[in-house]
Amino acid sequence: MHLEENCIDLEFDRRHIWHPYTSTLTPLTCYPVTRAEGVYLHLENGEKLIDGMSSWWSAIHGYNHPKLNQAAHTQINQMSHVMFGGLTHQPAVALCKTLLSLVTNNLQHVFLADSGSVSVEVALKMALQYWHSKDQPKSKFLTLRDGYHGDTFAAMSVTDPDNSMHSLYKGFLPEHIFADSPNSDFWGVWNKSDLDDFENKLVHNHQDIAAVILEPIVQGAGGMRIYHPEFLKGVRKLCDQYGVLLILDEIATGFGRTGKLFAYEHAQIAPDILCVGKALTGGYMTMAATLTSKEVANTVCRGEAGCFMHGPTFMANPLACSVALASLNILKNNQWSQQTHMIENIFANELPKLREYKIVQDVRWLGAIGVVETRLPVDMERIQASFVKQGVWIRPFGKLIYVMPPYVSSSENIYHLLAAIENALDNSENFMQPR
Ligand SMILES: *Cc1c(COP(=O)(O)O)cnc(C)c1O
Repeated sequence: MHLEENCIDLEFDRRHIWHPYTSTLTPLTCYPVTRAEGVYLHLENGEKLIDGMSSWWSAIHGYNHPKLNQAAHTQINQMSHVMFGGLTHQPAVALCKTLLSLVTNNLQHVFLADSGSVSVEVALKMALQYWHSKDQPKSKFLTLRDGYHGDTFAAMSVTDPDNSMHSLYKGFLPEHIFADSPNSDFWGVWNKSDLDDFENKLVHNHQDIAAVILEPIVQGAGGMRIYHPEFLKGVRKLCDQYGVLLILDEIATGFGRTGKLFAYEHAQIAPDILCVGKALTGGYMTMAATLTSKEVANTVCRGEAGCFMHGPTFMANPLACSVALASLNILKNNQWSQQTHMIENIFANELPKLREYKIVQDVRWLGAIGVVETRLPVDMERIQASFVKQGVWIRPFGKLIYVMPPYVSSSENIYHLLAAIENALDNSENFMQPR
């Protein structure tokens, strides 16, 4: 039993606290979580839910992990934070060494950023400074429709213009170039006309384009689209041909989520600039990184400014670095590949059956990502309540019901998540918004 003062004040939360993309006019009541352990979120009322979202791609090893906890405890007893200007520390050095050992070896320099969006800002700034240093200033970026790169302004400017409502910020938001996103599915036949629009935009604008930025293989929050590796190979080739930098945003896909450590490995290519975040700290705290080549880094620094112009207050926070290092060490030592392939096999066996539902438009999967696209948008509040009743945490948006569970999920956990989705489809008349 809970004492009154120990209960989470849900009414205060509802009235005064903004949650992601919420309205103060129609505030919803959130589910109060008191602790989390393994794949489970424990609610205040004693129920526990399998987290099908990994807290938005990040809690890959599950919650309350002894090794990650240990790293945080050990580090907090040494120091929580020191400034990174002029000072350095073992957690940052060890983390960056390990990061560089995991990525393609053309990447040699690491900028530690505070969040995914900031790492995208940093990547875009690097590309702009690079061309400025070369005395060929360029100010445009080429990206894809249906993409998502974050909520800060520069990141938003390369995010799908309709999804992120660029119309709201007209006159302030820089206008970049959007090419059609690929239609060839990861598992399907490659249709090379997928590259036509991209190539066309590059041919006509390459003198103004500082870099191409996109999410490799999986477009996440912009539509959960999983595309053919040949598209990515073609993009790399065209960037080389036209002398444009390639920024890959692996903030969602990085660290094993797609069945490869990085999604670019599906296409055997290397980026000029790489953004990672989300799972970097195993979901413990906010941290991201932007990695680049010696050529890009040194060119940036040869320019007028004489340095790369960025340096956040909490850069390389030692607590976050220590936990990130521990998380990467778990990845290096453990079973992520078998785990994500086990999950992928279940999706491959089970998801296609859901195509029989009239309300299902498409199903997709790759690694530990499973997606059901419905024909009509779902009513998030009602479908969420039904999922909670069934002991799972799944948060759909629009027409997308999707899961990206922790790698440590058991096969029973995965079947439980899929059963809950199937149950929602069985009762779809309760969850679909009227046309
Ligand atoms: C989540 C995400 C971001 C933004 O990261 P934040 O940490 O939320 O700022 C950028 N790009 C991609 C692909 C993402 O999935």
